[in-house]
Amino acid sequence: MATQSNNHIDVVPKVLLQQLIDVLSAKGYRTVGPVVRDGAVLWDTIRQIADLPIGWRDEQAPGRYRIEQTDSTRIFGVVHGPQSVKPLAFAPREPLLMIERSQGRISIQPTMPKSEKVAVLGVRACDLAGLAIQDHIFLKDAYRDPYYRTRRDGLFLIAVNCTRALATCFCASMDTGPRAGANFDLALTELDEEMLVEAGSEAGREVVRALTCAPASTTQTSEAERQIEACADSQTRQLDRSRLPQALYDAHEHPRWDDVAARCLACGNCTMVCPTCFCHSVEVAPDLTQTGSEQSRLWDSCFTQEHGYIHGKNIRPTIKDRYRMWLTHKLASWIDQFGTSGCVGCGRCITWCPVGIDLTEELPALLKSSTQIKEESIQS
Ligand code: SF4
Ligand code: SF4
Repeated sequence: MATQSNNHIDVVPKVLLQQLIDVLSAKGYRTVGPVVRDGAVLWDTIRQIADLPIGWRDEQAPGRYRIEQTDSTRIFGVVHGPQSVKPLAFAPREPLLMIERSQGRISIQPTMPKSEKVAVLGVRACDLAGLAIQDHIFLKDAYRDPYYRTRRDGLFLIAVNCTRALATCFCASMDTGPRAGANFDLALTELDEEMLVEAGSEAGREVVRALTCAPASTTQTSEAERQIEACADSQTRQLDRSRLPQALYDAHEHPRWDDVAARCLACGNCTMVCPTCFCHSVEVAPDLTQTGSEQSRLWDSCFTQEHGYIHGKNIRPTIKDRYRMWLTHKLASWIDQFGTSGCVGCGRCITWCPVGIDLTEELPALLKSSTQIKEESIQS
C-alpha cells in the first residue's frame, strides 16, 4: 500500500467545498469530475458540487457493474466508473495531421489539440499510477508525443484517497493505493463532515492558500489514516507478484491458456478500460471532395485480428495467442520493458469483461505446476 505522506494537511468543511471549484475557475481551469450518466459514472464538466454523484455507490464484481442512490452524504462514495483518467491525456481519437492537395501541391499540417487547463476532481490512486505509466510511454521514451504533452500539461489532478474498496479492487497488493502516492496536485480524504486537503505540488499549494481552511487536527488525520488502512485491509482480491516475471514466461505452454481462451470473446473491453494500455493505430480518412484527408490516432486493442497483422501474416491468429500476449505483457514483459508492472490493480478489466474473466484468478492458475494440477484433480 502507498505509505502516509509527510505533506502538510489542511481541513475544509464539506459545505465549503464549492470554493475549490470557484478558485479553480478563477485560475482558468475547467473542472471535470465524476457524474452519473446512462447508468454509469463518467467524467464530465462540473460547475458545482451538486453535479457530483452525492450519495451514490457503485458495486462491482466480475462482469457486473451497478450504481445506486443511497441516503449517504458522501460526495465520493462511487469509487470509479469505466473511465480512468487516461482519456483526458491520451485521447481515444486524436486527429494528427490534415493533408490537402491544392493546385498540384500537397500540404501537411499537424492538428495539435487546443491547450486547455483542466482540473480533474476525484482521481483515484490506481489511476494516478496508471497515468504515471502513460507519462513514461508518451513523454519519457525516445519519442516524446506532443499531442499527449499538450493535453497532459493542462491537467491539475485532484486525487481522492479511497476509504471504500470495491470487490474487484486489488491496488493494495500492487502498492498503488488506496492512498494517492504521488503525481497529484491535491489529494482529498473525505470524512463525515469535512474534507482533508493535502497539496502535492506548488500549483496545489497555491490553490490551498486561496481556500478557507485550517490545519487538520491529529484526530482528523488519524481518522483519515484509519479509514484508508481499513480500505486496504478490506480488499479481498490480490495479486502475488513474488515470482514474476519469470514464472509467467515459464508458463507459456500451460494448459490454462486454452481454458481461458475458451471463455474469452476477444471483445477488447479489458484493454479499453485499462488505465495503462497504450496501443493505438492510425487511420487515414479521405474527405468527400478527394482533395484532402485527415490522419488520426485511435485506441487499439491487442485482442483484434488487425492488431496482430504484420507484413502479410497474423502473428496472433487465435484468442489464446492474444490473451496470452495481453496477460504476459501486463504482468511480465512490461516489467522488463518499463521497470514496473503493467497492472495497477484497478480491477476494471474484471468488472467490464462480459464473461467475468479475472486476472487475479488466471495468474495463480497459470503458475500452478503440472504436478499441482494432477494432485488437485486426484483429490477432487
Ligand atoms: S490489467 Fe485490469 S486491473 Fe490491471 S490496471 Fe488494467 S484494467 Fe486495471
Ligand atoms: S478477457 Fe474479457 S474483456 Fe478481455 S477480450 Fe476477453 S472477453 Fe473481452
